[in-house]
Amino acid sequence: MGTIDGLPPLREVIRAHDLVAKKQLGQNFLLDLNLTAKIARAAGDLTGCDVLEVGPGPGGLTRGLLAEGARHVVAVEKDARALPALAEIAAACPGRLTVLHGDALELDLAQHLTPPVKIVANLPYNVGTELLIRWLTPETWPPLWSSLTLMFQKEVAERIVARPRTEHYGRLALLAQYRCEARIVMTLPPEAFTPAPKVHSAVVQLTALPQPLYPCDFGVLQRITAMAFNQRRKMLRASLKGLHPEIGTLLDSVGIPPTARAEEIGLEGFCALARAVAED
Ligand code: SAM
Repeated sequence: MGTIDGLPPLREVIRAHDLVAKKQLGQNFLLDLNLTAKIARAAGDLTGCDVLEVGPGPGGLTRGLLAEGARHVVAVEKDARALPALAEIAAACPGRLTVLHGDALELDLAQHLTPPVKIVANLPYNVGTELLIRWLTPETWPPLWSSLTLMFQKEVAERIVARPRTEHYGRLALLAQYRCEARIVMTLPPEAFTPAPKVHSAVVQLTALPQPLYPCDFGVLQRITAMAFNQRRKMLRASLKGLHPEIGTLLDSVGIPPTARAEEIGLEGFCALARAVAED
């Protein structure tokens, strides 16, 4: 049995297992273990937590999570070529790393996790947003996880944390901020990855709130924001016309000018409107 520190450098691991990056699997690896340790630390105290990692690849972040004291890491990897490298890490940390081979979109991961759970991942770009939306819309709230620490393309990260009246503000910001505190904790240039992607990346930290700051029916909120942002340049009295026969009066009643556009209205305003629609 070895130790995490005794494992070979990641470049050597990639060479030994012939892990040539595949674009279709969103493979941009982090090979600097100082950087992966920093991302693991951004997730806060991991001791006593189960950590779900999607897409461990050669295992740089996995090593960081284990070194930072995670009780148990469950790592889901679609690429079978990475499994021997991950088995070496598991052997260095007996009982603390479970590697699941498969597609994170298809596996039932909850059965492998015991709360408290944190999700930490350098996500494959092609499935990152879909996974985030699933994690933000579980059947019950609070969710299984207490926080998400996720690497995205910087533009996606900006959409998650965006505020009203800014370029990236839209449905993803509202969905994320409805019942999470969301912020960007780190930005990374393309050169941080091997191979280097075309764009910058950023790590977003989402912390689950016990309940929404502004309570309302989540389904109604989703319906309103879909209508409002599908025609984001239109005034709300026009884009939300199909919602209610007296939409102008309803908007007025919750303090939203009927001539306002979707991008000017914050979460509080949309939730107030959702409550008014549900009560009407
Ligand atoms: N965590 C590693 C790192 O930071 O160096 C690799 C990150 S790389 C951006 C994304 C990883 O996700 C790759 O290892 C890829 O094979 C894996 N992957 C892609 N699609 C996946 C899916 N649907 N389910 C699980 N893993 C997936």
